[in-house]
Amino acid sequence: MSDLYTRLFGRLVFPALDRANGTTIGEKLDHLRSSEHDDPMRMRGLQEEAAARVVETTAKRSAFYRKLWHGAPGPASEFPPLDRVPVVTKSDLARAGGDFPLAEYRGRVIRCVTSGSTGKPMTFLRSMEQESWFWALRFRIWGWAGYRPGDPYLTVNLNPRTAWKKKLQDVLFRCSYLTFNADNLDAERIVETLNRRRIPHLNGFSSSLFVLARYMLEHGVQAPSVTGVTATGDTLFAPYRETLESAFGLRVLDYYGAGGEGFHVASQCAESGSRYHIHPENAVLEILGEDGPATPGEPGRIVLTQLHNGAMPLVRYELGDLAVAAPTGARCTCGRTLPMLERLEGRLPDLISVPDGSYLVPHFFVVLFKGLQSVYRYQIVQRRPGEMIVRLVGHQGCRRSEVEEIVRREVAAATREQIVPVFDWVGDIPLSGAGKRRLVISDVTREKLQTAPRDGDADRAE
Ligand SMILES: [Zn+2]
Repeated sequence: MSDLYTRLFGRLVFPALDRANGTTIGEKLDHLRSSEHDDPMRMRGLQEEAAARVVETTAKRSAFYRKLWHGAPGPASEFPPLDRVPVVTKSDLARAGGDFPLAEYRGRVIRCVTSGSTGKPMTFLRSMEQESWFWALRFRIWGWAGYRPGDPYLTVNLNPRTAWKKKLQDVLFRCSYLTFNADNLDAERIVETLNRRRIPHLNGFSSSLFVLARYMLEHGVQAPSVTGVTATGDTLFAPYRETLESAFGLRVLDYYGAGGEGFHVASQCAESGSRYHIHPENAVLEILGEDGPATPGEPGRIVLTQLHNGAMPLVRYELGDLAVAAPTGARCTCGRTLPMLERLEGRLPDLISVPDGSYLVPHFFVVLFKGLQSVYRYQIVQRRPGEMIVRLVGHQGCRRSEVEEIVRREVAAATREQIVPVFDWVGDIPLSGAGKRRLVISDVTREKLQTAPRDGDADRAE
């Protein structure tokens, strides 16, 4: 379905937006549409050339990286320009101070404060070139689900839109932006909007979409206008996928990245089964074991190098998640020549089970604690049905009773007073096994989900 607006949007509105914003998204999107069928060796060559340029200019321009790279050598790499370059983490970058944006960078800078998925906010900077690649890749990823820029879409999020620029963008892009609290009333409103506006594309957090799909199945309601669903943000567990696919009657495409840092790392296509395509045009993805590339089939740390960010280059940046590489030379039946990822691991945000059968999504807490600046760190633990322990680390001068009151009130509202949280103020919250600070741990939800079949194999394209 390509209506007049989508055609006009592609020809007129999109180029005008690019000019007004100083981006080159349209041009990059054209490039991406052809490069996904390029010769893999050529693609690899271009990637290595770009990585070599990034390492060279970063060494020249960044005092922070020069100092880091003078220390102990890093792990080995299959990409010669990155071999033995030390890995950089978010906490290393937090100590970089005024090193970014790099003094030589002349263009506009996009600032992005991460939502604190590890419990601590951090600011990342992007050049306009990087910003353009980021958006173009999102359009490629959605495009694989049938979306074209200008098509109406609905995005489900927990943060309300406030900036006028974002609202204007929503009008131009025909985006219905709805917030979600894992509440059946929200689900009803979303289905009603999809149907009234005949929206073909739906995008949102996996856990939120799952709750929406469950509502649709339980209430026997459908959204026949939807022809593409993309899920991101947290793990698309097998039961989520099954529920979503039976509610919408189509394959859900999962995609994975880091919005704050500006990465679109990997995404699924109609035929990739449980595998993912990697997007090599904008970054180098490495999966590292102890001292070099992980063996295919074994989980390794995701380490990324940005190829187009002159403002704040991320070179061998460790994302904090784990993935498994596909066998060398693995190809997808869709015909795209982009490299493949076997699977993602270590993204295990949980849902809090509410006794009436509904759930609280992790993002609920992210939004709640964003407004509670006196809380330094938090973690939500659920060991038994109906229970919720809120672990908190306060800044100095934090008024504990006020924080508790707000959390109690918000949780009561979101769970229709079925959960009364218990508070546990602690000195610190330890890292989990994968080195991440997990926000939500629910043994209850985990047990429920494990009764369902495991991810992937059933729908793998052969
Ligand atoms: Zn494919």
